Order: sequence, then structure tokens, then C-alpha cells
Amino acid sequence: MREQDLLVFKYSEIKEQGGLSVRLTPSPALFSDVFERPGALKKLELDLAFSVGGDSILLEGKVRAELDLECSRCGDSLTRSFEDSFDEVYPDSLEYVDAREVIRETSALLAPIKVLCSESCKGRCPLCGANRNRVSCGCKLDIPGQFAALKGLELKKPEKPGK
Ligand SMILES: [Zn+2]
Ligand SMILES: [Zn+2]
Repeated sequence: MREQDLLVFKYSEIKEQGGLSVRLTPSPALFSDVFERPGALKKLELDLAFSVGGDSILLEGKVRAELDLECSRCGDSLTRSFEDSFDEVYPDSLEYVDAREVIRETSALLAPIKVLCSESCKGRCPLCGANRNRVSCGCKLDIPGQFAALKGLELKKPEKPGK
């Protein structure tokens, strides 16, 4: 049995048993292409609960994933766990309930667009690139000077086209 078949269930079997609850930990490799960063998915744990309705099967699931991400301020890698739940209805015209798609969709939305290694992350020095959480590079950013230059620009009035 191939590992991806773990997530495909026979409709008639679920129905005969009157439902099914399973906890699975499929190999992260099965869903690695969901994430932009290669190897981002470290661990995946699924709780799947199928219940049988009149002419359909309801799947209520929970996805827990451990993700390897990059701090959006300093670029350091960090590992965080996320979880989300989903539900999906499968009509009884199906021979198999394939849970892969909904797991894939749910996993793709787990991580926030921006993560920080800590709220107080100091980021990187824009001049030398040093991680300011670890070193103080001593670079001097001439912010007042730049500000003055901007002010000077503002003072220049746009020339009106003469007639
Ligand atoms: Zn950081
Ligand atoms: Zn620096």
C-alpha cells in the first residue's frame, strides 16, 4: 500500500461501519509541494472523523503542522506549530473519499504571511546586513541628514508651465 492511499477511504466501508475516526501522521513529503519553502513542513498530524448522513458522508478534520519558517524581519529560521479544522461533504455517488485535497487546501493556509522570531526582533542592519539581535555592528544610519534632504525637496515648488 502506497502511503498516499492512507488518505483515500472506501466509501462503502465507512458507510458499513457507520462512521470512522482516525488519527494519522502521514509523511510530510506527501504535502511538501504545498509550501514555497522546501522542507517547510516538518510534521503533520491529522484527526479525521467521518459521519454518515442520508446520502452523504461528512468529514470533520483537524490538521496540525509543524512548519519551518523564516522570520520576516531578520530572516532567521524558526519552527512553529499551527492547527486548523475543516469540514467537507462527500456525496454517495463516490466510490472513494479522497481526503487529500481538503488537507492540502487547509495546510496551505496554516502559516501567516508574516512571522517574527520574536515581537522584539531588531531585524538586520540595512547597511552591513548584520543580524541586530545578535551583534551590534555600530553602523551609523544618517537618518536626520536624509530627512533634511527630503525636506529640501519639498520646499521646491513645482514649476507651472508658463503660457
Ligand atoms: Zn527575527
Ligand atoms: Zn551594520
